Amino acid sequence: MRPLLEVDHVKIAFESDKEEVISVEEVSFSVGQGETIGIVGESGCGKSVTSLSIMGLLGKNGKVKNGHIFFGDEDLTKVTAQRLREIRGNEISMIFQEPMTSLNPVFSIGNQMIEGIKLHLKMNTKDAKEYAIEMLKKVGIPRAGEMLKEYPHAFSGGMRQRVMIAIALACKPKLLIADEPTTALDVTIQAQILQLMKNLQKDSETAIILITHDLGVIAETADRVIVMYAGQVVEEADVYTLFKEPKHPYTQGLMASIPHLEYENEQRLVSIPGSVPSLKHMPKGCRFHSRCPHATQRCQQEQPVLKQIQEGHKVRCWLTENDQSRMFSGKPKEE
Ligand code: SF4
Ligand code: MG
Repeated sequence: MRPLLEVDHVKIAFESDKEEVISVEEVSFSVGQGETIGIVGESGCGKSVTSLSIMGLLGKNGKVKNGHIFFGDEDLTKVTAQRLREIRGNEISMIFQEPMTSLNPVFSIGNQMIEGIKLHLKMNTKDAKEYAIEMLKKVGIPRAGEMLKEYPHAFSGGMRQRVMIAIALACKPKLLIADEPTTALDVTIQAQILQLMKNLQKDSETAIILITHDLGVIAETADRVIVMYAGQVVEEADVYTLFKEPKHPYTQGLMASIPHLEYENEQRLVSIPGSVPSLKHMPKGCRFHSRCPHATQRCQQEQPVLKQIQEGHKVRCWLTENDQSRMFSGKPKEE
């Protein structure tokens, strides 16, 4: 049997100034029922594009060039636009960083929730309204009955994100894609929202793809983690292994840049020098080589493949083949 979602060797291209730009390449991963997968990486690594491709929301300039995205037995890269619309909002839901962009400012929250519930759960208006109130209560909106009549601007950022979660989970989707759901919120509210997602997930066995640049969020939420760099998966492991023994130099760099509470005033302890290469000028060889403290000649010439090094642990790096000792010591090689 297939897992709930299987992203298989996906390549995504965008048309830009009559030029084709490859945004994501060779991306493969799967998500099981009720599982939480974290996708982490700096901005511009292809995390959001990957998730938009699952939803069929790449826009008119973007398309999946190669590969398959199986949701159950259906290949989402092959189904009709009509079928995709049915799946979205019904079986797959999405929450974004800024809920104002997905909430319509001219309709009341109730209006936006009730219509969706009627459509997807085939309820009459009265039942849909009661159910909407119940969902708002579940996500901790006070005076839920009254708030239903309010417009999005009447809610604070944290409350809007709660409303979005209520909407996203109202139809009990099999998969929830959350793209930086807490990035715009302060730390306390962030923790509450993540907890809320986890609780609702338990009730409904919903699988979650959580996209973030924040490894702290990943540590608290994910079962398994996919690390993306420059449009590729560079490492995949269960959350425990990833934090204990990160193998890819990029993952190691991300780990070193996690801000620690005791150094509150310093944004980052260490940051990875350099920046993500531009899509239009992807370097030859390993895409991380210009920033990698362990890069060798080979890294500049040949592109490493994603390889399984242990059950459930995959890494895209030449070092994992040759010289593990250097990786564990974390010391750059002396040339
Ligand atoms: Fe660094 Fe080479 Fe591994 Fe790329 S393949 S991450 S450049 S050591
Ligand atoms: Mg993004």
